[in-house]
Amino acid sequence: MPDVYNWQIGRTMTYPYPEAHPHRQFVAVFNINRCIGCQTCTGACKATWTFSRGQEYMWWNNVETKPYGSYPQHWDVKVLKLLDEAHQAAGIKPRWDRSQVSEQAPYGVYNGLTLTEAAGPNDVVLGYLPTDAEWRSPNFYEDTSTAYKGGAFGLSQDGAALPEHQAWFFYLMRICNHCTYPTCLAACPRKAIYKREEDGIVLIDQERCRGYRKCVEACPYKKSMYRGTTQVSEKCVGCYPRVEGDDPLSDGVPMETRCMAVCPGKIRLNGLVEVAEDGSWVEAPQHPLYYLVRIAQVALPLYPQFGTEPNIYYIPPRWAPRPYLRQMFGPGVDQAIERYIAPSRELLAVLQLFRTTQKMIFRFEIEEGPLVREVEVNGKVWQMYNDTVIGFDAKGREAVRLSVVEPLHERPMERLNSI
Ligand code: SF4
Ligand code: SF4
Ligand code: SF4
Repeated sequence: MPDVYNWQIGRTMTYPYPEAHPHRQFVAVFNINRCIGCQTCTGACKATWTFSRGQEYMWWNNVETKPYGSYPQHWDVKVLKLLDEAHQAAGIKPRWDRSQVSEQAPYGVYNGLTLTEAAGPNDVVLGYLPTDAEWRSPNFYEDTSTAYKGGAFGLSQDGAALPEHQAWFFYLMRICNHCTYPTCLAACPRKAIYKREEDGIVLIDQERCRGYRKCVEACPYKKSMYRGTTQVSEKCVGCYPRVEGDDPLSDGVPMETRCMAVCPGKIRLNGLVEVAEDGSWVEAPQHPLYYLVRIAQVALPLYPQFGTEPNIYYIPPRWAPRPYLRQMFGPGVDQAIERYIAPSRELLAVLQLFRTTQKMIFRFEIEEGPLVREVEVNGKVWQMYNDTVIGFDAKGREAVRLSVVEPLHERPMERLNSI
């Protein structure tokens, strides 16, 4: 197998195809701290793409309650177990080497096996096929927290306090990661799966697919799904007509996807980043997604050790136990939470951009405002400025303008009672 470079694990790894990168990559950042678990995203995707016969149990976007919930059931526990067994069989103790952090390896180097490296002699990818029953209950364990160990009936008398809650849960919102090295694509014997050059969206050619379900088995995130009525596999299409700017509302510029655009929690920011020929992101400090992922490093990939280089990034929840989060988002968790808790002036401004326009934002500018607050956070002075952030669309036009402090509008006296 050829060697390809995966910057999320800080090293080359084996993959069935040589490196070939799109010009731009579909990327999103999800802020777990703000999700209210309303499932509006889930409903929007279903109403748009999976409302037909044979798609009843198909949720391209789903929101599960961690640590117990998962769709299909126990997907991550099962994949982690398979990987653990492969490491034990190979006599390897997987470790992240943080001493090798660099521009090309921002989280350090992962010294362990990825899913293509851990595959058996007859497989391309280490994976498993969920049973039908595992797909049927997408929201098992909704809002179920871990038990508080000290109190009667598992209840705490003291309530919850940061930095880590003793009884905890959080929502994990998931779509296809439109991975740089998709294992669904790697495992397809029909070569029916492809990654688009223009935006890196991963699609299944419905004509070529014969429903062998190798992609379902090989995707560790279980985001490729089989449809019994058509006998082919389907997956999240990244709402490509909106990304192409063909949606009637789009005004000719790329728009955020349906699941992103409806989010009432304002937790999602979606866009396209420029990719160089070697697969690295072209330096763009004024691009909000480049800024969040590569400069501020507050948003992290989900299970980077799987080796697919996923392109959906998460701001980890500040109240959950750190070892659990490190396993899930890699070793960048502590720094990401520290930066999110006391954001820099620039980060605070960029965080305002989430879910404020349906247009994808390609560049931001900040106009400085006055100091409005000074408090102590974790023993250090933290200052808040009422800066204004401006987001520009693909054509360089102003798409949105927001201040850090939300403006207060007073209803005039003569309209006090009107709605
Ligand atoms: S998340 Fe799964 S289905 Fe989506 S591109 Fe990655 S491997 Fe393929
Ligand atoms: S990007 Fe579009 S197709 Fe994919 S999960 Fe979101 S709404 Fe569904
Ligand atoms: S719509 Fe937004 S807030 Fe609601 S569940 Fe989805 S990601 Fe969370």
